[in-house]
Amino acid sequence: MDFKFPPPITQPEVKCTQIFINNEFRNSVNGKTFPTINPTTGEVICQVQEGGKADIDVAVAAARKAFELGSPWRRMDASDRGRLIIKFSDLLERDAVYIGSLETLDNGKPFKDAFLTVFAAVKMLRYFAGLADKNVGQTIPVDGDYFTYTRHEPVGVCGSIIPWNFPIVMWALKFAPAIATGNVVVIKPAEQTPLTALYLAALTKEAGFPPGVVNVVPGFGPTAGAALSEHMDVDKIAFTGSTDVGKIIQIASGKSNLKNVTLELGGKSPNIIMDDVNLDEAVEMAHFALFFNMGQVCIAGSRTYVHEKIYDEFVKKATARAQKRVVGSPWDKETESGPQIDQTQMEKILELIESGKKEGAKLQTGGVRKGDKGYFIESTVFSDVTDNMRIAREEIFGPVQQIIKFKDIDEVIKRANDSSYGLAAAVFTKDLDKAIKVSNGLQAGTVWVNTYHALHTQAPFGGYKMSGIGREFGTYGLQQYTQVKTVTMKISEKNS
Ligand code: NAD
Repeated sequence: MDFKFPPPITQPEVKCTQIFINNEFRNSVNGKTFPTINPTTGEVICQVQEGGKADIDVAVAAARKAFELGSPWRRMDASDRGRLIIKFSDLLERDAVYIGSLETLDNGKPFKDAFLTVFAAVKMLRYFAGLADKNVGQTIPVDGDYFTYTRHEPVGVCGSIIPWNFPIVMWALKFAPAIATGNVVVIKPAEQTPLTALYLAALTKEAGFPPGVVNVVPGFGPTAGAALSEHMDVDKIAFTGSTDVGKIIQIASGKSNLKNVTLELGGKSPNIIMDDVNLDEAVEMAHFALFFNMGQVCIAGSRTYVHEKIYDEFVKKATARAQKRVVGSPWDKETESGPQIDQTQMEKILELIESGKKEGAKLQTGGVRKGDKGYFIESTVFSDVTDNMRIAREEIFGPVQQIIKFKDIDEVIKRANDSSYGLAAAVFTKDLDKAIKVSNGLQAGTVWVNTYHALHTQAPFGGYKMSGIGREFGTYGLQQYTQVKTVTMKISEKNS
């Protein structure tokens, strides 16, 4: 797509702040609200209705009703489900400037990036819309006088718990495959970024989804999120967020109804730069790999392994590039990085920076908060980082690049794999043998060669090890929202 960037609406009107159930906006059962904060200024944007257990119960009951046999949703042709998703995607496109602006207000990402995420969501919606009537089963030549076929049936009530780093894309990613395959959803957006999630809910009504098919309950993790993941009448949870919470969700499933769980969790992705690369290009890609979205990306290239032959030169250039990065108001056209999402994340990042200094890494640039308003951090580069330091092991989720030296290919594969995470990885080299050896050897759900952040709606994405369970995107992602039923009929005579 060829994008033209229109100017943002710098003070977008907040139109939706209530819980969305059964195609209606309503207040929370106990009347509670919570503030959503503008990370650029630290000021309250507005109060949002705070969903708790009682609201989750109402939403799940509405979803269950919409999923009953014979309901308008269950009786709808698969192609019509696809058509509804397309209609919804058209509304996102129609309102892209408003939605992107609302996202910048609530999340702090530069408007240009926010605007692009609306189109990433549109693309995702249209891809899964097209698959709605292509979700075919099999007829199976079993032994004996039988006729056997499989049906790919929807799982049922799907809970989606989503994070704050890519609110619109995450919303679409959890919604589209679930709805394309005939499920109903209860979405809990992150407490830091409820606004676009609620506006998208309003658009599903405008698109014409029957009541109860889409429900959105803003609220906090330990209350609304926990109620959803512990619910006896929820059939599946799709979660994106931290590994710690992913574990809690697995346990909640085990303790309740063994609901199906898919998890997309944290990472500490290695980005390996061999000595035969075009240095300037590799520096730029490694910079993008880490600093994109203020480093708040589960697949951030947060362990930059650089061959010793080019190490010093790489550090020099990477530092210069970070110093050039424009950190500032997300409304400005030139801005590359806005604020971090909130005070907690900012403090966590600053604490990890301190640990890096204490443990002997060399701070090349940055390392401090930028200004005293909002949650900005200066683009930070550490060199002389060793594998055992906290900054090389823990997910920082911030604009902090670790540059680590390596000598040979076998050693770097081993060191790259020495992590509890396994979400993504990359290798930069002109040597095809090396590229294949490294990409085969790395324990990661996605490996890039000479590129980074190249995710596509059509190709699966998910984690090895403690980075997750299951796959999203592509037809692999669709499978996670269906269960296979085998139907076997006795027949009088089978012939080949
Ligand atoms: P988090 O995992 O706490 O939150 C993600 C979502 O889970 C939110 O909607 C939250 O409300 C919900 N949640 C929290 N506790 C829950 C519980 N007990 N039961 C059910 N749902 C619950 O993430 P965070 O606190 O916002 O960020 C902390 C760290 O998580 C970050 O520093 C980063 O390392 C990681 N993170 C990863 C991703 C990712 O894309 N993989 C996204 C956001 C954060």
